[in-house]
Amino acid sequence: MTTSDSETSEPSGPTLSTTIATLPGMSRARAGRLAKLGLRTVQDLLFLFPRDYERPAPPAKVDELRDGEPASLLGAITDTEITSRTPGKSVFGAIVENASGAIRILFFNQAFRADQLTLGRRVIISGSPRLNGLRWEFVHPKVTLLDVTEKLPEPRMMAIYPLTEGVKQAELRNLAETYLSLTSKLSEVMPASLRAAAAERLRERGIQVFGDLPPIDEALRQLHLPDNEILMMTARTRLVFQELFVMQLALAMKRRRSTTNLHAPPLPSSAMIDARITNRLPFTLTGDQRLAIDEIRADMSRQFPMNRLLQGDVGSGKTVVAVYAMMLAVAGGHQAVLMAPTEVLARQHFQTLSEMLEGSRVRIGLLCGSLSAGDRRDVFTRTANGEIDLLIGTQALLYGDIEFHRLGLCVVDEQHKFGVNQRVQLRSGGLDPHSLVMSATPIPRSIAMTMFGDVELSTIREKPPGRGKINTYLSHDGWKDRWWSFVRERLDEGRQAFVVAPRVSAAEDQDVEAEDVSSVETVYEDLCNGALSDYRVGLLHGRMSNDEKQAIMQSFAAGRTQVLVSTTVIEVGINVPNATVMTIMGGQRFGLAQLHQLRGRVARGAHAGHVCVFTDGERSPDENERLKVFEQTDDGFELAEADFRLRGPGDLLGRKQSGMPPMRIADLNRDVEILAVARAMAQELIDEDPELDAEDVAALRDQMIRRYGKRMDLGDAA
Ligand code: ADP
Ligand code: MG
Repeated sequence: MTTSDSETSEPSGPTLSTTIATLPGMSRARAGRLAKLGLRTVQDLLFLFPRDYERPAPPAKVDELRDGEPASLLGAITDTEITSRTPGKSVFGAIVENASGAIRILFFNQAFRADQLTLGRRVIISGSPRLNGLRWEFVHPKVTLLDVTEKLPEPRMMAIYPLTEGVKQAELRNLAETYLSLTSKLSEVMPASLRAAAAERLRERGIQVFGDLPPIDEALRQLHLPDNEILMMTARTRLVFQELFVMQLALAMKRRRSTTNLHAPPLPSSAMIDARITNRLPFTLTGDQRLAIDEIRADMSRQFPMNRLLQGDVGSGKTVVAVYAMMLAVAGGHQAVLMAPTEVLARQHFQTLSEMLEGSRVRIGLLCGSLSAGDRRDVFTRTANGEIDLLIGTQALLYGDIEFHRLGLCVVDEQHKFGVNQRVQLRSGGLDPHSLVMSATPIPRSIAMTMFGDVELSTIREKPPGRGKINTYLSHDGWKDRWWSFVRERLDEGRQAFVVAPRVSAAEDQDVEAEDVSSVETVYEDLCNGALSDYRVGLLHGRMSNDEKQAIMQSFAAGRTQVLVSTTVIEVGINVPNATVMTIMGGQRFGLAQLHQLRGRVARGAHAGHVCVFTDGERSPDENERLKVFEQTDDGFELAEADFRLRGPGDLLGRKQSGMPPMRIADLNRDVEILAVARAMAQELIDEDPELDAEDVAALRDQMIRRYGKRMDLGDAA
């Protein structure tokens, strides 16, 4: 193409919206292949983000060369030889020398090299060396000729794009380079002031950002043709930030709208109320418990409903925080309800609360599936009359048509058991109650900031004082005898033990080989007739009637039963501080979160806990990996992060449930700090300008509506 050609074609040349199929020199077949990468228009091409970069190695020294490993070397030609000039058989060799030593380069059938690589010439040689005798040899290396005075060219980073069948790197690099100038036609979404402020905040968080976040055209140029690492990273950060910021704007707007549309009874606290409540608690609150309580107090004093998730590892002491909130509701003349996933747990809560509130005027009721019709009706009536202040129960509560006198607070315990989207739908007197949801499955920060974007989060990381340490062992069948003798020793010392298996009976599950999976029934038989025949062993599983389960649990809690063989029914909430040993059979059948929950059952008292995991049959490496992580850490937050990593992006956010579109450039695992900045800044912007009416954020608003408007019910694209 001549100069005049390109000049005359300029006005009608390609634009951002030009389809790739109509670009000069583009065949239909080629356009079809590019379409498989999602590339339809020139704009798509500019937003095709490289997945990585080729980084040319810096010039090496001769003694650093390794056989077959690509390297570059700077030096001067000190000797040349032409072994043969016969056309088709010519061989040209040269010695390249620098302060670190000398190497040989060889070319076959490239006679022109003799004229190019003359004595004294400075060159950069790049290729894969082979040791030939005592000398390193580069056959057909890439040669860069340098002038005598010329400075070394910076080795250039090259984008590596995602590919598809029939599309080559070089082709994408060419296309990107050819149309890069069109980035100047893109409209800027992030105003300069925002880019400057964001850069500042990101640096405060320790993220490397060079200068302000660049405008969109500069950012894309640095992504496709980076000048250097830091500029490329800054450009990437800009695009990641933008993507996350737009999402967080949507979430913040959603949060804001949902709170201002709903009304709840304000339940303010005072120093006196606070003192009265804390005096009732049987111990001094930990720092994290106090923080969570203060966050809850602030929320509950407002006239729109609190929507707070309290997360804390098993045994971190979430219950008292809930008790505090419930008493605050009662102090404000309202009722509170506490829902637990199982009847066992509901009864346990009922007991704990009854003890804590003994001698107070607070009236507590229990509602669960096994109540007689009469008792049930009685609880209903007293709740509706306001004769019950605190109602504790199971999901039965959710489904009955229960009426409250003045409901002020709804607490859901072990929320992960209810499923993600099951919001409580209890209203009373035209108002929505404040809502506190508790979970022992810690959520990785990135997920907490996205999926739960419209929920505020309180976290308890600190364990209550005086906890015994938990020891976790991964074991195999060969060690069973030793393990059971260890268990017997603990039992003889007066401790109690759990044994957990994944299934009730051997014949339960059709899709797995029955013999391959431990079942509580077979484990129970084996132990009663073998390793633990001298001890009082009980059996518990979900197929038993409530009465049976109740009796067995009580017997274990009272210490009459020494060993409880059980399915994961015990996973939830059971509190028997004297139980310090747990054996998990078929460990590979449990998820990390579940294993961790189970382990929490033996860390309730002052004695050290011991957990031993056995696996059934062959272990797959993946399961091994999971179990290894489980063995290595007992910090629930670390486990959650690890689980998130191991399960990979496929499980990201449980995307189906959250309805979030996939991220295009942000990686929620890696970019969690950028996410935190984006979230904070989005919240500030929405606080200032709730509907994003300001002129300079109009483009941001448009982008947000296009991406999230429908999904999050924020409105439709204009
Ligand atoms: P979870 O977070 O698993 O629901 P719980 O609320 O059941 O934990 O608390 C576990 C145990 O720790 C309970 O026996 C509880 O009484 C005790 N506990 C909670 N907070 C404290 C504290 N601040 N000091 C001492 N013990 C505490
Ligand atoms: Mg609990």
